[in-house]
Amino acid sequence: MKVVKSPNFDERQNGKIKYLILHYTGMATGKEALERLCSKEAKVSAHYLIEEDGEIFLLVNEEKRAWHAGISKWEDDVGLNDLSIGIEIVNSGHPYPGYESVYKPFPEAQMKSVISLSKDIIKRHQIKPWHVLGHSDIAWRRKIDPGELFDWESLSKEGIGVWVTKDKDILIEKENANDFLKNLSKYGYDIDGVDGNTSEITTAFQRHFRPSNIDGNIDRETYKILENLLEQKSNL
Ligand SMILES: [Zn+2]
Repeated sequence: MKVVKSPNFDERQNGKIKYLILHYTGMATGKEALERLCSKEAKVSAHYLIEEDGEIFLLVNEEKRAWHAGISKWEDDVGLNDLSIGIEIVNSGHPYPGYESVYKPFPEAQMKSVISLSKDIIKRHQIKPWHVLGHSDIAWRRKIDPGELFDWESLSKEGIGVWVTKDKDILIEKENANDFLKNLSKYGYDIDGVDGNTSEITTAFQRHFRPSNIDGNIDRETYKILENLLEQKSNL
């Protein structure tokens, strides 16, 4: 592990580390991302950065508060920087207006490092499986990283995070949107002000838990996956 210090951190207010938040860098190269995460002007950081070849950089010591999550919410916790460790995974990410990029799968060597580092963090801080999340889970109104090509399913096989365990029922069928929203909230998602417009938050959920189809529709499979995650959360 290489140490490259970022000046962008402050003291944790609560002190308890209960979340692990995964990001992609969303810049053309890892070098560029590292420079930004270490530049005082940018006012952003993470505890770790993982290069495409698997090299791990330590930017901020875990006991300090790094600035990676921004406005965010999970369960009753808001502003998750204070309660989390953040890992930036080098990937150029999705394109957006003014930024050209082809969103590509995360290389195997990189995923190996994501797995070993995450396992170590989860063990040392006793982080619960449903508290291992993507930036898009805790800030779905603003963020889509690490995105649908991030292999959460493989991670769950290594004991990192939660994944659906039952056979998936792929029948498409409208379910009660209110029940789905209630369940999203029970699992931890911030559903404030969502009301009738469920498409965006459903897309965020699918981006993590049903990446094969992120159309924002509450179909039967999506509904069943969430039920399954809730069952696991109550049993773990
Ligand atoms: Zn992010």
